[in-house]
Amino acid sequence: MLINKAYKFRLYPSKEQEIFIAKTIGCSRFVFNRFLGQWNDTYQETGKGLTYNACSAELTQLKKEFVWLKEVDSIALQSSLKNLADSFTRFFKKQNKAPRFKSKKNQVQSYTTKETNSNMAIVDNKIKLPKLGYVRLAKSREVEGRILSATVRRNPSGKFFVSIVVETDVQPLKKTESSIGIDLGITDFAVLSDGRKIDNNKFTSKMEKKLKREQRKLSRRALHAKNKGIHLFDAKNYQKQKRRVARLHERVMNQRDDFLHKLSTDIIKNHDVICIEDLNTKGMLRNHKLAKSISDVSWSAFVSKLEYKAKWYGKTIVKISRWYPSSQICSECGHQDGKKSLEIRDWTCPIFDKHHDRDINASQNILAEGLRTFHTA
Ligand SMILES: [Zn+2]
Repeated sequence: MLINKAYKFRLYPSKEQEIFIAKTIGCSRFVFNRFLGQWNDTYQETGKGLTYNACSAELTQLKKEFVWLKEVDSIALQSSLKNLADSFTRFFKKQNKAPRFKSKKNQVQSYTTKETNSNMAIVDNKIKLPKLGYVRLAKSREVEGRILSATVRRNPSGKFFVSIVVETDVQPLKKTESSIGIDLGITDFAVLSDGRKIDNNKFTSKMEKKLKREQRKLSRRALHAKNKGIHLFDAKNYQKQKRRVARLHERVMNQRDDFLHKLSTDIIKNHDVICIEDLNTKGMLRNHKLAKSISDVSWSAFVSKLEYKAKWYGKTIVKISRWYPSSQICSECGHQDGKKSLEIRDWTCPIFDKHHDRDINASQNILAEGLRTFHTA
């Protein structure tokens, strides 16, 4: 099966390349904003928007007027236009809000370029990008497949990243004849029906504490500048702290993503049928007790990784109803023991005196219920 796969790497451009990246981002933004303005005007006058093709033809003219547009990667400018047209399409389908003007002050600055005539390639620890040539990157894993596009980003911390989308052929994984149930843990990230408890990635929680501390410091510095009548833009200590917070935030996000990737791959590799609860995260987030643990560990990001990997590798995800009382039923005898509040971590079934760890028992019920619906489906 041909699939699209995304990779993200840190990029280490030379000073010269940095300038070029900044130029390309600026020109992409210019093109986006200019056509967005025209699009809005035309819509107001005629009740109809523009088309990508019309804009694209005009872009050619525009380059004669603003010759500096010719200096940068032309495909990046085209894809900026394409991005605008796509946003309008989604807007008219009521899938998102109307596109907004891009600002120099946006947190993340980026441009996207697409594959044409092998203009991109990865050679050793470098990526070849149009107009930039070879840029050094921190390649943490091998990139397999044909590159379709690359997005170059500059983060608020001043770091550069590249996200690469490739088309690659994946083969279904060998069947293992094994199934597993997963319970969303409260104290643990996930509890598996084989008795494993996946802990809440201690590194991440340590980093998050640190992040919160630094964020408080940032607010203090903002207040300090305000009291002194200094504009935040000129407040050196505030700006320094802001970059520090951005760097930490990035590290937390990367760590978490890495953790979720490894865990989902491990589960998909070792099991054919994976049973999980169909959680309405929105509903759960309204419950404050659960809110923190869920948002912290990105359960929904984990489920989506499981889902697409299952599709790639020929495995099955079975979602059971979130109303199924997985923590009330004894997985041994089926006795339903009634509602249990979140503090109750273990209990004993009165029928055969079986002692249960709350979450392991729940994951075993999820597995049984998942297999039941899977076989009757
Ligand atoms: Zn029992």
